[in-house]
Amino acid sequence: MEIFCPTCREGYRIPTASVPKAARMVVCNSCGTAWKQFFDEKPKLESRDITPKALEIASLRRPSYSKVVLQILREEAALETKLRT
Ligand SMILES: [Zn+2]
Repeated sequence: MEIFCPTCREGYRIPTASVPKAARMVVCNSCGTAWKQFFDEKPKLESRDITPKALEIASLRRPSYSKVVLQILREEAALETKLRT
């Protein structure tokens, strides 16, 4: 799914396998804004001229989205560690 920074509108793609079920704090790698992202919303395209191909090209040009995923996974790991102790 795609998420968008509310401040700078930077788009990030989250691989389906990595999409958390609950809302999470995510951090924009571009401007540093942190916001709570709800992942249970159905993804919707904001503009008709965003085609899957265009999104694919955009994601290739912006490998930075993987850093947001890493941030999410790190939080996930921290939470699990907290629950276990
Ligand atoms: Zn941003």
